[in-house]
Amino acid sequence: MDAQAPLTDPFARPITYLRVSVTDRCDFRCTYCMAEHMQFLPKRDLLTLEELDRLCSAFVGLGVRKLRVTGGEPLVRRNIMEFFRAMSRHLGAGLDEMTLTTNGSQLARFADELAECGVRRVNVSLDTLDKDRFSQITRWGRLPQVLEGIEAAKAAGLRVKINTVALKGFNEDELFPLIDWCAEHDHDLTFIEVMPMGEMGDAQRLDQYWALSELRDRLATRFTLTPLAERTGGPARYVRLEESGQKVGFITPLTHNFCESCNRVRVTCTGELFMCLGQEDRADLRAPLRASAEDDALRTAIREAIARKPKGHDFDYSRRHVSGRVSRYMSHTGG
Ligand code: SAM
Ligand code: SF4
Repeated sequence: MDAQAPLTDPFARPITYLRVSVTDRCDFRCTYCMAEHMQFLPKRDLLTLEELDRLCSAFVGLGVRKLRVTGGEPLVRRNIMEFFRAMSRHLGAGLDEMTLTTNGSQLARFADELAECGVRRVNVSLDTLDKDRFSQITRWGRLPQVLEGIEAAKAAGLRVKINTVALKGFNEDELFPLIDWCAEHDHDLTFIEVMPMGEMGDAQRLDQYWALSELRDRLATRFTLTPLAERTGGPARYVRLEESGQKVGFITPLTHNFCESCNRVRVTCTGELFMCLGQEDRADLRAPLRASAEDDALRTAIREAIARKPKGHDFDYSRRHVSGRVSRYMSHTGG
């Protein structure tokens, strides 16, 4: 096979989107994402910034056009701006877009530099606009710091999309306040259904599960929802709220099957490649990366892994128990 032929999986899906987790650490401890006392990976297991660059550049060479940097919290990784700066050389030369998902705590420090590196959009996770609730759900986070970060991102010219995990009994009553706040500040907004990751007890997770179909019905009591054709190859579906003109997304990995158009893979900060967020199968890319300064073995390992990309995931809450669960934390694969 042509060494540079673009990546295509066994179901003829072109792989054009890479999500890379640059650290498993975080300055927050969101209850649905991490245990309060997390055991983090030893530093020697992490890919260096240079190795992350080689790895992502290999993917760009194989046809990846969109890169999302995530974590853990990507902006707490030491010297992470060096990585963004280095990766910006691919923009317009293979890579169409470089973006990140962040909790926003460090955006006030880094927004200008991110914009200089060619980042145009950021996803900021924010589940509540209430200061006390924010501290409760993130355990260690402070709402004013995040709001300041979001302001800084806007001021730097970045488009902000807010990601909100829908949590029953937690932010249900904030549905309309969140919508109004996003309209006022011109942020896009996407709701995410809570997923069965990590060690949270099944009972607790089912209690928190707020189906987005229900959220959507509630939204329709105040707004006219027009479904948009827009597809990202991922689990997001969008509607326009006719009265405000806002775009609202729904990420429903559990109630919809989106796998048939999946175009993405994930790499962890230790160089493990996950071909599907909902499955345990993975490939080690750190060994071929460290075995040689040339990228041939790395590219072969990537191709072999993509050839095993499964058709889809098996998450299912429908029978009042959690099945298809994977044992790792979301911070491990970056969501
Ligand atoms: N720290 C960054 C942040 O919070 O945006 C990036 C990493 S975080 C793991 C990525 C996304 O995953 C966040 O939007 C977070 O809300 C979401 N997430 C974490 N755990 C989740 C879960 N169990 N179910 C659904 N979404 C989850
Ligand atoms: Fe950290 Fe993001 Fe996980 Fe919250 S969701 S603990 S901010 S990695």
